[in-house]
Amino acid sequence: MAIIIAITGGISSGKSTVAALFSALGVPVIESDQIARQLVDIGMPAFTAIVNHFGPRVVRANGQLDRAYLRQLLFNHPTTKAWLEELLHPLIYQESWQQLKAVKRPYALWVVPLLVEQGWQAGTERTTVVDSSSAQQLARLIERDQVSPEQAQALLALQCDRHRRLAAADDVIDNHGPRTELLPQVLGLHQRYLQLAATHVSKVENR
Ligand code: ADP
Repeated sequence: MAIIIAITGGISSGKSTVAALFSALGVPVIESDQIARQLVDIGMPAFTAIVNHFGPRVVRANGQLDRAYLRQLLFNHPTTKAWLEELLHPLIYQESWQQLKAVKRPYALWVVPLLVEQGWQAGTERTTVVDSSSAQQLARLIERDQVSPEQAQALLALQCDRHRRLAAADDVIDNHGPRTELLPQVLGLHQRYLQLAATHVSKVENR
C-alpha cells in the first residue's frame, strides 16, 4: 500500500492550490471535501437522511442540496453542525481510506481540512500543513466564495487555531507569498516523500 501524506490547513490557506501541484507531478490526490460532496449527491443515503431530517426546504429547485441554506442553519443552530458531522464524518473517513488503500503509487496525498480537529492522523505517514496568515485566509476566502467579511470570519472561527495545527505538522508549506513560491516547496517535498515511500517498502520487505 502507498504511504499516505495528509495535507491540511485552514480554510482558503491554499490546500487545493498545493494539491493541484502535487497532482501535476502524478501524485494521486484524494480530497475529503470532494468525497463529502459526492456523499450528499441526489439519491445517496446521506442525501436522503439530510432531507428527512431538515425537510424539503433543504432541497433546491434543481434537486440538489441547498448549501447556502444549510450553512445558515449551521450558524444559527449549533445542534445542526453536530448532527451533520455525526452523519458525514464516519462516511467520509471510510470512503477516504477505501480510496487511499486502492492507490498503486509510492505515495498518495489526502487533503483533509479538519485533520487535526478530527484526530484523523492515525495511519498517515506525515502531516503537511499549508500555512498562511488569518488576514490572507480571510481575503482569499471573501474573493473565492463571495462571502461577506463577517461570514468569512465566522467560517474561520469554526476551525482550530493556526498554532495548534502547526504544532501537529511534520512539514509546513509556506503560502504567505505569491503562488510562484509554492512549486519549489512542493518539488522538495515530493522528493522527500518518494524517498520515504522507498524506505517504507524496503522496511516492509525486510520484515
Ligand atoms: P483551500 O483549498 O485551502 O481552501 P485554495 O487553494 O482554494 O484554498 O485557495 C483559496 C483561494 O486563494 C483560491 O482562490 C486560490 O486561487 C487563492 N490562492 C491560493 N494561494 C494563493 C497565493 N499564494 N496568492 C494568491 N492567491 C492564492
